[in-house]
Parts: sequence; C-alpha cells; structure tokens
Amino acid sequence: MSERIINILAKDDDLSKKILLELEDKLGEQGFITTRDFNKDAELSIVLGGDGSFLRSVHQNDFPEVPFVGFNTGHLGFFQELSIDDVDRFVEEYIAGEYRQESLHLIETNVSYEGGSERLLSVNEMVVKANNSKAVELDVFINSNYLERFFGDGLIVSTPVGSTAYNYSVRGSVVHPKLECLQITPLAPINSKAFRSLQNSLIVPPNFIVRLEPKKRYEGEIILLNDGEETIFKDVKYVEIDMNYKKIYRIVFAKDSYWNNLKDKFL
Ligand code: NAP
Ligand code: MN
Repeated sequence: MSERIINILAKDDDLSKKILLELEDKLGEQGFITTRDFNKDAELSIVLGGDGSFLRSVHQNDFPEVPFVGFNTGHLGFFQELSIDDVDRFVEEYIAGEYRQESLHLIETNVSYEGGSERLLSVNEMVVKANNSKAVELDVFINSNYLERFFGDGLIVSTPVGSTAYNYSVRGSVVHPKLECLQITPLAPINSKAFRSLQNSLIVPPNFIVRLEPKKRYEGEIILLNDGEETIFKDVKYVEIDMNYKKIYRIVFAKDSYWNNLKDKFL
C-alpha cells in the first residue's frame, strides 16, 4: 500500500501549535504520515491559521493541486471551515470519505511595463492602486471595448471567493462561489465635471479580459496588491486581468455551509 501523506501547515502561534500536535498524534495513529513542510505528493494540506495563513500557504506553494482544508485559529477564517473543536470529527469523517471537493478559480494578471512583463495569480483579488496614496488614473477596457476613465484610489478585481474580502468592505456584492465571474469594484471613485466613472461594481463573465491602462502621473508607478501582498511597478503600459483555467481545490464537510458561514462571520 502506498503512503498516505498529509501536510500540516501551521501558523506560528500557541493555538495553532496545539492543534498541530493534536492532529499529528491522531492522524499518526491512523497510519498517515504527516509533514510540517509542504510535500507535493501529499493527498491533503491542512492549514492552521486564519484566511491570511490560507492565502500565504497557497501562494508560497505555487497554487498546488493538493486540496486544502483549514482549521480556523485566526480572526475571521472565511476559508477555514473547521474550528479547533472539530479535530476528532475531522479525522473520522476524512477517513470515512464524508466530504466533497470544490474547486476555486484563480484570476490571472498580466502586467506589461517598459522592459518586461510579469504574470501573477490571485485567489481573492488583484487591486490596482497608485503608489504613495495618490489617486490613479486608469483607462478601463473590457474585451477591447473602452468603458471609462477611472480616477480615484483604485480598482479591485475579485473572484467569487474574494468577494467577501476587500471587495465586501467597499460595498461590492457577495458572489456565491458556484458562479464563475469577475467583479470590478471602484475604490473611492472621483466623480466630478472632469471625471465620470461607474460608482458601483461591475460583474463580468470569466473569459472576458479586463484591461487597465494607467495614465502616466507622478513617477508612473502603480501598486498591484495581490491577495494582500503589494508590489510596485514602474512605467506600466497595461494590466490585463481575467479568470485563469488554473484552479485550487478544497475539501468541504458541511452541506451548503455557505450561507451559515456568511451569517456567522458577518451578521
Ligand atoms: P489582513 O489585513 O489580516 O486581512 C484582512 C481581513 O480579511 C482579515 O480579517 C482576513 O481574515 C479577511 N479575509 C481574507 N480573505 C477573506 C475572504 N475571502 N473572505 C472574507 N474575509 C477574508 O490580511 P491577510 O490576512 O493577509 O488577508 C489578505 C486579504 O486582506 C486580501 O486578499 C484582501 O481581500 C484583504 N484586505 C482587506 C481590506 C479591507 O477590507 N479594507 C484591505 C486590505 C486587504 P483572517 O482574520 O482570518 O486572516
Ligand atoms: Mn489576517
């Protein structure tokens, strides 16, 4: 019989460490090999932490095929379905195969600047902002159709799972993860006689390309905030964002837990 490996990726705090030891014990007893480093041959990755820990595990391990499940030891834990009292139930139900697998579509950003280009993947969202808290001026095209010149703090392009993150804080809509679409949400849009842009968010089909052309202001620098990690780019020609064919996977135990989770976390 082949080895059954499970990655346990724990945040560095006392509670996460406690659950880590407990899981190592109980999964070990059941014949699993657990590892604290990411092993791509594992059948599952358990993340102990909050949403931030989940996002970092996904990015650091290059958006792996190995499915995820999370125990929430953080603040909000929207991605982290299980709580610290669920260890025994988790081991039991996991062994019995009483779970489903869901896939999450990533978004891909291609940024082209003087002298190069880069491709980035996001789970929650990509945010385009100006550097140094300036306002950013962006020409917005959807599938080559010019839509508007945006002027303001920036634009968020979020996935359905990302719709409850930054997008939600700026009054974007909550989108059920079964839908495949992108949401473009303005951050403090300036609306005046000089500038006019949509004030509400816009939802576009997954295979449409959102193209943002920054107008050169200040040093021509913009910030791309990818799932909370920022990078400054200089002399950007355009940023193109669309839904990627690449997915990540998570396993889910509860049936139709989405609405309960939403109520639990937000209301
Ligand atoms: P953070 O600053 O610690 O996260 C901000 C909050 O967003 C945390 O409470 C986090 O939950 C929560 N969160 C993350 N993904 C979520 C999701 N899909 N649905 C609901 N809530 C979610 O930074 P972080 O933990 O590294 O997370 C990065 C994310 O922060 C970014 O992707 C962005 O969406 C979000 N963010 C939000 C704002 C805002 O709302 N004004 C501003 C910047 C960034 P945990 O407490 O469990 O980590
Ligand atoms: Mn966090």
